[in-house]
Amino acid sequence: MVMPGELPSVPIELPDPCLATAQVCGRACVWCAVTVNNGEAVDLGEREVTAHGSVTRWFPRSCRPCAYTHLSEASQRHRKECKVCSTRLPWCRTGQALFGAAMRAARPVQR
Ligand SMILES: [Zn+2]
Ligand SMILES: [Zn+2]
Repeated sequence: MVMPGELPSVPIELPDPCLATAQVCGRACVWCAVTVNNGEAVDLGEREVTAHGSVTRWFPRSCRPCAYTHLSEASQRHRKECKVCSTRLPWCRTGQALFGAAMRAARPVQR
């Protein structure tokens, strides 16, 4: 259950968070570093990372093409490897979260 206003963390491996400031603040795609605006960005959920020896909050975001590529790949890989998701329904929380995030990334941008 996700509380209103709370971003679920998408269970996907992200590139090393020791990135440019724009990527740490979520102004740039975590994968390809393109600048993303609020309407187009895909939020990957807040997470805590250790950068330069201290724990920081990270709000990773990405552009839609990257998000869709990485999330659908992760979702397919997970469903093959996960004991729950590969054998029965419903999928585990991780499987559902990955699939849901891939679907969000696939949705056309609202203008
Ligand atoms: Zn990108
Ligand atoms: Zn699973």
